[in-house]
Amino acid sequence: MHRQIDKLRRKTLLTSSSITIPYGLCEYCHFLAPWYEIADDQLRDYYSFYLDNEYKQARSSFQPGFTELGKVMGSAKEANLRRHQHENYLIPFLENYRKSNGLEKITLLDYGGGEGGIQPKADWISTSIIEVSNDNEPNDNQSFESRSNKQIFDVVQCLHVIEHVGHPLNTCRSLLSHCKEGGLIYIEVPIEFPGLEAIASGKLPICHEHINKLSILSIQSMLESCDVEIIEVRSDDINFLHLDGLTPVVRGLGRVSRRNTKA
Ligand SMILES: [Zn+2]
Repeated sequence: MHRQIDKLRRKTLLTSSSITIPYGLCEYCHFLAPWYEIADDQLRDYYSFYLDNEYKQARSSFQPGFTELGKVMGSAKEANLRRHQHENYLIPFLENYRKSNGLEKITLLDYGGGEGGIQPKADWISTSIIEVSNDNEPNDNQSFESRSNKQIFDVVQCLHVIEHVGHPLNTCRSLLSHCKEGGLIYIEVPIEFPGLEAIASGKLPICHEHINKLSILSIQSMLESCDVEIIEVRSDDINFLHLDGLTPVVRGLGRVSRRNTKA
């Protein structure tokens, strides 16, 4: 079934900016996403074209300059730059967590670390990765998840994943299931919510691989509804070499607090 869809789409690649799809908006938290929800299988299929030649051509047509900029996408240089920006923000919180819990070392899970290298590095941080971005067979990094004694981490980070998933709340719950009580959750996503006025006037954003259009409010609301005690949810600007200029992002940081959750 999956393969048949693939064949069909090879002829009509769904990355054209001219294709519109229906969106749904939550008026309370401003969560904007395709509606109805796109299923995981469909998403795997959708992303199977990621960065192939046809994709690059299609993307260049609505992001002028992507052919040039795209060359540094996922490069070591870009990863280094991003890691430094990430460390500058996160390391002070990790140091504080380590001190206040009297720990020599802390464990960190990078959920969806496929982009590679965007993990804070220090000799007192031990890092694991769960890859979530492709539809191939589970790799070595994933295998530990299925072990009966699932490892629970001090810190779970999830960078630039939530904007790609069909059900952000479920993904957030999955992150939490890997985190200790009192541990830290860090979520980072691009800010792409266009604002209520734009939506009211029919100016909906293009749905490319970022299917969810998120904002400070929607990330805050997502964390709160998963019983995460908010430390801070704020905006920042990140330099991705493969994008022109700085990219506004949400940094969402919280502490896992299951005290109020019924088992
Ligand atoms: Zn909502």
